[in-house]
Amino acid sequence: MNYNSTRNKETVVSAAQAIAQGISEEGGLFVPQELPKYSFDDIKALCQTDYRGRAKKIMGDFLSDFTSDEISESVDAAYTAEKFGSDNPCPISYIESGEKKMALLELWHGPTSAFKDMALQILPHLLTKSVKKTYDGKEAVILVATSGDTGKAALEGFKDVDGTKIMVFYPLNGVSPMQKRQMATQKGENVNVVAIKGNFDDAQTGVKKIFTNSDIKEKLAENNMLFSSANSINWGRLLPQIVYYFSAYCDMVNEGKINLGDKINVAVPTGNFGNILASFYAMNMGLPVKTFICASNSNNVLTDFIRTGTYDKKRQFYTTISPSMDILVSSNLERLLYHLTGENAEKVAEMMKALNTEGAYTVDTEVKAKLDKYFWGGCCDDENTEKTIGELYKNENYLADTHTAVAVNVYDQYVRETGDVTPVVIASTASPYKFAKAVLTSVSSDKLPEDEFAMVDALSAKTGTKVPAPLAALKDAEERFSFFCEVDEMPQTVLNGLNIG
Ligand SMILES: *Cc1c(COP(=O)(O)O)cnc(C)c1O
Repeated sequence: MNYNSTRNKETVVSAAQAIAQGISEEGGLFVPQELPKYSFDDIKALCQTDYRGRAKKIMGDFLSDFTSDEISESVDAAYTAEKFGSDNPCPISYIESGEKKMALLELWHGPTSAFKDMALQILPHLLTKSVKKTYDGKEAVILVATSGDTGKAALEGFKDVDGTKIMVFYPLNGVSPMQKRQMATQKGENVNVVAIKGNFDDAQTGVKKIFTNSDIKEKLAENNMLFSSANSINWGRLLPQIVYYFSAYCDMVNEGKINLGDKINVAVPTGNFGNILASFYAMNMGLPVKTFICASNSNNVLTDFIRTGTYDKKRQFYTTISPSMDILVSSNLERLLYHLTGENAEKVAEMMKALNTEGAYTVDTEVKAKLDKYFWGGCCDDENTEKTIGELYKNENYLADTHTAVAVNVYDQYVRETGDVTPVVIASTASPYKFAKAVLTSVSSDKLPEDEFAMVDALSAKTGTKVPAPLAALKDAEERFSFFCEVDEMPQTVLNGLNIG
């Protein structure tokens, strides 16, 4: 199976090339030329195997230039019980409330307590194998822009992986104290962490510019290095996410919650549009999904887009208690546009250009009709996020993090507006302990302790839930990275970090 660029249909690359390169030359994203199609019998077969078996089948169908041994090795190394706490890396918690049947798909049982681990534990394996196939002998330099969770998950996935170096940029004042501490204490010989004086979009734009800067690329080539990306623009990030939607469906069938062939809805707390897009790919491969509920926080550019067909990033940026969704430019939406325009790369390139130059674009009526058919968008501010966490805990004894709560709240809005109570898979994307302050405030009226780790302990004492071990260990970890720079210093910072400045 080969891959095209969303901005140029003439570009045709192998899976290994798409993963090694991360982003296409002209700035487009790689998309599969066709999708494997699964019948109900195929899905039934998936249901009869475990998570790793499902991952091998699905990823193997996309990575046709990998041997089945290479895929097995990658999957078996990534999704271990040691790293994810059990053989099923993403267990489901079911909540039935009135007519609502909610399956909270907990994607955060990995080493960094956020859903990014689901992809970033396997990406280094796929990436090093891809670089070997396509650029043998070169060292892969991974640049990451993060709104908090990707950075840590990428650092943890790539630390001390031979043939790779990783550098992470995060917004100085745009991540939670726990996220900051997770990154500042990162271990590994090949890692580097830098804060920038700007927001996440500045970091992401800065990284994209470095990727396409020919002077810098030349310098890397002279030193036998090449850039690659661990951001969700990389196909190797998106692909592993398709797996868990099929797997959740199978678990629900196996646990008697639905029958094979029944439709489900999917609700996803959305930032860069990667997670929800993976579920859209799953539907196009045969997973019976009716509606995709796209949940945003106060940075509700996607809600407006889904409702009006106009994407307009010219608006105030809010720093919220769900920082991993504080995004105004959702990169993966470009892939959706490519598919909804009938793979019209010229049109996509035009819209992306308009976004860059004018800050906005509007889709045509055909695309808008398809958006209406599949997607429902809603948003939830901080106050309602906290209210939702409090109610979920009080009424259902379920402790949700701030991102998951946004999805639960927006799902509730969806049901009230449409009356549709089709069983829903809600992506639960982080451990509540990653955002202890906001979660504790939501479930307790006691006076807040001042220190982040005291809050973690108080949350555990109050709710009788367990602190994930890697988060507990941060308390006494040594801080290694405190460097920060201006946005326009990012290119030089990269060269300095690689010792080729
Ligand atoms: C990254 C992240 C999101 C947003 O996911 P996208 O794929 O970027 O839409 C939501 N919640 C958490 C906890 C995250 O880390």
